[in-house]
Amino acid sequence: MSSTKPNDSQPRVAYYCMEYGLDPSFRIYSGGLGILAGDFLKAARDGGYPLVGVGVLWQQGYGEQRVSPDGNVSPLFKTYKHPAVKDTGVRVKVRVRQRPVTCRVWSCTAFGNVPLYLLDTNLPENGPNAAITDRLYSGDAAHRIEQEIVLGCGGYLALRALKIPVDVHHFNEGHAVFAGLEILRRQLASGLSFDRAIAATRRQVVFTTHTPVPAGNEQHPLALLREVGALDGLTRAQAVAIGGSPFNMTAAALRLARAANAVAELHGVVAVKMWAHLRRAAPIHPITNAVHVGTWVDPRILAAAHRPAALWDAHQANKRALIQLIAKRTGVRLDPSRLLIGFSRRAASYKRWDLVFSDRRRLDALLKQRRIQFVFSGKAHPNDSGGRAMIERVIAIGERYPNAMAFLPNYDMTIGAALTRGADVWLNSPRRPNEASGTSGMKAAINGVLNLSTLDGWWPEACQHGVNGWQYGDGLELDPPEKQDRHDARELARVLLTQVVPTYYDNHAGWVAMMRASIESTRTRFCADRMLADYYRTLYTVA
Ligand SMILES: *Cc1c(COP(=O)(O)O)cnc(C)c1O
Repeated sequence: MSSTKPNDSQPRVAYYCMEYGLDPSFRIYSGGLGILAGDFLKAARDGGYPLVGVGVLWQQGYGEQRVSPDGNVSPLFKTYKHPAVKDTGVRVKVRVRQRPVTCRVWSCTAFGNVPLYLLDTNLPENGPNAAITDRLYSGDAAHRIEQEIVLGCGGYLALRALKIPVDVHHFNEGHAVFAGLEILRRQLASGLSFDRAIAATRRQVVFTTHTPVPAGNEQHPLALLREVGALDGLTRAQAVAIGGSPFNMTAAALRLARAANAVAELHGVVAVKMWAHLRRAAPIHPITNAVHVGTWVDPRILAAAHRPAALWDAHQANKRALIQLIAKRTGVRLDPSRLLIGFSRRAASYKRWDLVFSDRRRLDALLKQRRIQFVFSGKAHPNDSGGRAMIERVIAIGERYPNAMAFLPNYDMTIGAALTRGADVWLNSPRRPNEASGTSGMKAAINGVLNLSTLDGWWPEACQHGVNGWQYGDGLELDPPEKQDRHDARELARVLLTQVVPTYYDNHAGWVAMMRASIESTRTRFCADRMLADYYRTLYTVA
């Protein structure tokens, strides 16, 4: 394993991310990217690594959806009253549309994390620019670019103002890439040629890509970036040499970094292919995501892992807690003695929420007799009507089976934790190879909740079919996608009906043995300590 040990001789890292999921009460996250970042900062603290986080203090929580129809800006100057953050007193100025915008710098260490520095622009002196940090992933492309200037340029300047020494700037996703341009501008200003300035920048930057879907990689027209001010100090040719035209944030990050990583082995293969056309880009290594066990795993489950009866009892307690939460929030009364299948995801179409209902005829009797029960949760992006429709279809199906199906609204960390502890089976249906990694299945696996998933994201690395969970679809990728969907739907029904349901009802000892295998095969490999050690060895430390 790792020969590197956390100590003072480790490289000092600044980790930039648009969102952080540290605690359910601290609503500056939207989903998986933020959860990963929050877990990362906690594992860094646990391991004593010299790492700090950089992010944005969003004024309204993601998904709170408090949109004022008349464009009323009155809430803007309300100070964000989160007790978890402290004003550092430091202010830095970024330039947006040729004008200075003041960023206030907060710090947060309240959740067992290394220091996290958060910026916001919510100051009267900023005029309309006070609204730049209003809401995560809101607004149009220009607004997004302004937010990214705050994260990247503001974040970089904040660390300097705070006198925090940094050896490596780590951009988690392309959102922070303007920090790379900030570093580059300084190299150019010191008199280096463009090529040397790029080389000097790359020595300080590493990058994590998360998006195996080409359309998911953010890009902007050069003219818009120039108008907002993101390309200040660079010629058009230089900007194109970095990000292309249109300017692709992922391509730019790969060209400004000395090393990069994908977030699972399969994703690594996909990402290397996807970016093979880029010249002079960072090599992409696979480093599989992981979860902070202290946050997501019930210690009673780990303590009981070797004792089948105690393990089952601990699981049933979690299942009853989940069923109570569902009853309280939705009125649906599920039965703790019946198989409960959990599913919670962002409502992106490749996640195929309704794959399991493709052939509802085969499930109809089981649902009516409550041999299987489902709980779903998840949000669609406000602008994603297709995602909303997918959620609505699942809710409509649920209405036909009132005591066998529930939909928990407002998916967040609290629901995420309850579901990945309390379900019996964790269903995952991404259309391979679109899921970069996924981490909810890891939370489930370490809690003894058995994964039933296509071989996508992290699952090909862990799955021992019929031993610690199940796969369906055999990792096939078929063209056109409808063909793959039909194939996977058939296979899902087959594995569910011939393996999962019979094991649950007819082979209790076998089921509990699988729970134990699930825990033992994942608890160290998909624990965030391993992930941090991998980042230090593969990405942060220069050989
Ligand atoms: C774990 C978690 C995620 C990430 O889940 P995946 O769907 O596996 O990517 C997202 N949101 C919340 C609230 C979580 O707890």
